[in-house]
Amino acid sequence: MSRRKLIYEGKAKVLFEGPEQGTVIQYFKDDATAFNNQKKGTITGKGVLNNSISEFLMIKIAEMGVPTHFIKRLNMREQLVKKVDIVPIEVVVRNVAAGSIVERLNIKEGEIFPRSIIEFFYKSDELNDPMVTEEHIITFEWATPQEMDEIVSIAMRVNDILSGIFFGVGIKLIDFKLEFGRIFNDSQTQIILADEISPDSCRLWDLKTREKLDKDRFRKDLGNIAEAYQEVAKRLRILPENTTTSKDIKEK
Ligand code: C5P
Repeated sequence: MSRRKLIYEGKAKVLFEGPEQGTVIQYFKDDATAFNNQKKGTITGKGVLNNSISEFLMIKIAEMGVPTHFIKRLNMREQLVKKVDIVPIEVVVRNVAAGSIVERLNIKEGEIFPRSIIEFFYKSDELNDPMVTEEHIITFEWATPQEMDEIVSIAMRVNDILSGIFFGVGIKLIDFKLEFGRIFNDSQTQIILADEISPDSCRLWDLKTREKLDKDRFRKDLGNIAEAYQEVAKRLRILPENTTTSKDIKEK
């Protein structure tokens, strides 16, 4: 790991230069942060689980015709992905009220929305990822109007695909966050799905018990965090061998 050229170290992942031009290695860490870095911890085995869960979901999404950055998983913690020019927007799709919208609009957690809601947040740690509208995104040239059409259409498609996959294994997809990137193909740019899709970036509730099987267990100190991530992997039938089953979370 150390001999590779580091491109970027994020909160939960590290990016290294890939073996071929136009590729990047995405390394999944066990580190977890919440509330814009105010809460920090380590969830043993999280990186291994998220690597496999994200691989599984990105492949399913690609099979349904949505372009993604995923190329292949390299090992327990790393995957090879396409190098993209990242669009500095987090795209959140919500099916059920939870998280920031509950406080922002004073809605009851668990309220089912009559239609899915899409929200955009400008990626800026300094500004605490403020919510923005398409007007801001287009005016400040973070993405073009055509790119926004593509992003919204992919986000809705991904919501349908993921909702179906999770429903099939007894999980309700409450909400999730996507990131997008541009790749350059023969002087044309194309928008593709980037980053990861995992219990770090989705809210997942057990269909029957409404038990939280995602990062809210860390955010809200609910305990059994690694077990929840393992449960998601187990239900998707992708639990990697040799996964540490330690249930502890070490506060740094
Ligand atoms: O916090 P909020 O309710 O806005 O989050 C909506 C969804 O986006 C959640 O599934 C959360 O895990 C995800 N998210 C994320 N990364 C962020 C902010 C939110 O993955 N920086």
